[in-house]
Amino acid sequence: MSAQARVISLSLALTGLAAAALWTAVRSGGPVHTPISIPWWGFALGFLATEALVFHIEIRQEAHSFSLSELPLVIGFFFASPWSVIAGRLVAHLLYRTLIKRQTPLKLAFNLSSFAAETAVALFIFHTLSNGDPPTAPHSWLAILVAILVADALSVFSVTAAIQWHGGDARVLTVMLTAAVTAAVNSSLSVLAAIVLWESPWAMVLFAMVAVALALAYRGYASLRQRYSSLQLLYDFTKLVGASVTAEAVMDEVLGEARKLLRAERAEVFLLDEETGACRHHFRSEDTDASTGPLVPSDPPAGLESTLVWEDVVGRRRPVVIANSSRTQSYADFLEKVAAKDAIVAPLLAEGRVVGAIMVANRMGNVGSFDHEDLQLFATLANHASVAFENGRLVDQLRREADERRYEALHDSLTGLANRTLFLQRVGEMGTARARGDQNLAAVMLMDLDRFKEVNDTLGHHNGDLLLREVANRIVATLRQEDTVARLGGDEFAILLPRLNSVDQALSSAQRIVGALQKSFSLNELSVDVGASIGIAISPADGDDAATLLQRADVAMYEAKGAGHPVMLYSPERDNYSPKRLTMAAELRQALADGDIVVYHQPKARLSDGMIIGTEALVRWRHPTQGLIGPDEFIPLAEQTGLIEPLTFFVLKSALEQCRQWNDAGHDINVAVNLSVRSLLDPDLSSRVEALLAETGVPGSHLTLEITESGVMADPDQAIALLERLAATGVKLSVDDFGTGYSSLSYLRRLPVHEVKVDRSFVFRMATDPSDATIVQSIIELGHNLGLRTVAEGVEDQISWELLRGMGCDVAQGYLLSKPIPAQALTRWMDDVHRASFSSVEPTPEVATYEPAVAKTSECPGVPALASIR
Ligand code: C2E
Ligand code: CA
Ligand code: CA
Repeated sequence: MSAQARVISLSLALTGLAAAALWTAVRSGGPVHTPISIPWWGFALGFLATEALVFHIEIRQEAHSFSLSELPLVIGFFFASPWSVIAGRLVAHLLYRTLIKRQTPLKLAFNLSSFAAETAVALFIFHTLSNGDPPTAPHSWLAILVAILVADALSVFSVTAAIQWHGGDARVLTVMLTAAVTAAVNSSLSVLAAIVLWESPWAMVLFAMVAVALALAYRGYASLRQRYSSLQLLYDFTKLVGASVTAEAVMDEVLGEARKLLRAERAEVFLLDEETGACRHHFRSEDTDASTGPLVPSDPPAGLESTLVWEDVVGRRRPVVIANSSRTQSYADFLEKVAAKDAIVAPLLAEGRVVGAIMVANRMGNVGSFDHEDLQLFATLANHASVAFENGRLVDQLRREADERRYEALHDSLTGLANRTLFLQRVGEMGTARARGDQNLAAVMLMDLDRFKEVNDTLGHHNGDLLLREVANRIVATLRQEDTVARLGGDEFAILLPRLNSVDQALSSAQRIVGALQKSFSLNELSVDVGASIGIAISPADGDDAATLLQRADVAMYEAKGAGHPVMLYSPERDNYSPKRLTMAAELRQALADGDIVVYHQPKARLSDGMIIGTEALVRWRHPTQGLIGPDEFIPLAEQTGLIEPLTFFVLKSALEQCRQWNDAGHDINVAVNLSVRSLLDPDLSSRVEALLAETGVPGSHLTLEITESGVMADPDQAIALLERLAATGVKLSVDDFGTGYSSLSYLRRLPVHEVKVDRSFVFRMATDPSDATIVQSIIELGHNLGLRTVAEGVEDQISWELLRGMGCDVAQGYLLSKPIPAQALTRWMDDVHRASFSSVEPTPEVATYEPAVAKTSECPGVPALASIR
């Protein structure tokens, strides 16, 4: 049966009941003798007045309303026929409910039948029990009370049934209880009125006046109270909202209040997702050592929704208290999920919907836990909290803020790309996928722009930002949906390409990015070109974790920059930071301390007469397991680790000491020491060199410092200033590897140098390659034009020697004379050269190896050539 049909049949039943009761009541005859008789319309007026004058009263946070409808009814018991009473009441209700409340016909019919039944039953019971006694007889009072209680019970039951059939929530017992209390009070009042009317009808005027005054006073009080309590609420929360700009701050206040009120360590709010209903946001306010902690948004605890407590709170809208003594499994389960020892949880409602839950946890102090009284208090507070969220508006705002915060925490605000955190997270997820058996390759790429700093400096930050945004767009456009592009900061971008079939796929993605960035960017009508360098690390080959992959992509990117290639794959062999290199750095430090770093010398001879006029000090590392290691393998490492400084001074000192010994032994020899780029940035260099010269007693003119052009170009102004100071000490300066670097003539002119060394790569080939010979020739001429001495290194054969001499080159250095060898070996060799003479030329073929170099020197290096040259 539908709800409607049920209500209709209930109405019909009530009407039947009313008719039957009325018939019996009428037959019993009504009041016996009465001083006055009130007409039906008198009752109509009376009932109308009580309908209009409904009282609202709040009992234990619940609003109840009641009327004085018993008053005309009780008067009717004594002063009118049952007909008049029932007719008056029905007319009054009909008028009131159609004209004022505009009820639907069904509801109206139901209400009228219910009133009719109620009134008729009351009349029937009264007349049956009272035996026509006057209102002054206590016997009548009992009859009145019984009649009214039964009538009220009937009304409560019928109304409750109707509400429940319509899906409402009616609690019979509380309503019944309130109704009984009201009935007793109202009955007493009504009896008083009836007595007054019975004894002296005019006194009724006085009674009415008192009653009306009381009623008005009460209504005034009630509405004032209502207004006051809602004002109080409003005041409290507007104060909160007013003082705190964000919804989060309101939440913070509410949680703080909850913690204080319930003496709890923690207060938390869980907010549901509007669409899915899943628990999405979690805010936590905690009592830390610094009294109140800030509101901490975090991910909701996992598995919360599957607990029975959650179902109770969110599903059934019931607050739940869990004392720490409670042993129930479902409670323990919940406590474990939220990591608390005890808790109270209550639903948070907005516009009648559950939007989340509020919880306090961990009662402070050692004794006691939360109990049912706390539960009541907390439920009220939860209601207030719901009000504070202004019917959901603030909850929405809070959700939005939390989403925004989450977004901001993971994204770059300028480009909208992922940020480092999100990027690392994604790479981490990829690692987890692999652990679960994902066999695919992935690539982590690191990219930076080649000329971004220039754009920023010359066109301003605004244009720099525009450029970065456009770069971000172009990168994203070349990639797949599943790829992640992140801006790590500045002009540095990182890209994750998951699920690749081959390394080539990563390379072609990188090429596509480079291609996309090659097209000019237009910034405020200006056309700007920026290149990019990309380093790629492949997972799992180059690593599994985000840190390693990023670091290796970084190494590859710097290599790409150095090599001038736009895209470079990571290669462990070239990685300065690979574990092998790091161990080497530690070993190198140790080697310096242990004396495993040694200085070899390679002689330089004057081309005009073959005289040994100097040596170049070249450093070697006698590695305990790897044998002799050449400088190309550890100088870069020393430069990166800061070891270059002690290394340079070790070589300088050892070379000067050796020079002193040679000079003392009668060899008028100059020693040359190589300076690294780093040394040229050391402002103390010249004073330290001076100190070493003084210490060893070597005149400045016997020391040559070899610098490279790239070393000077790193910071020309500072380098030139430093070189000038060095030159002032009498030290000779030589430009090493000339012809390979920038070859900037203008700088060469500005530098206070004395010598250029033609790079050995030209010298090697000059005997066979005419164009190399031309280069060597022009360098020599250039040097001479600038008033510099010219040195050719890498002279390996007799033909080169002759050619160089023909070109007017001043000095030669190379295997033809000798490989670099230890100082004592060189001393012996020089002594031999001065004594011996040989007839054949036999250049040593193993040019680049170091170990043979030591062994072969004793077998006499390029000495024969020298002899024949002379
Ligand atoms: P460099 O200054 O150009 O040194 C000359 C290099 O050419 C030396 O290599 C030397 O052994 C090699 N060489 C000389 N003659 C010939 C030849 O006829 N044929 C061939 N194939 N090679 C020849 P080495 O000793 O391996 O040094 C390499 C580089 O390491 C040096 O290039 C220099 O830049 C750097 N270096 C060496 N010692 C030091 C040092 O104490 N401090 C610094 N900062 N750098 C050093
Ligand atoms: Ca050199
Ligand atoms: Ca050189």
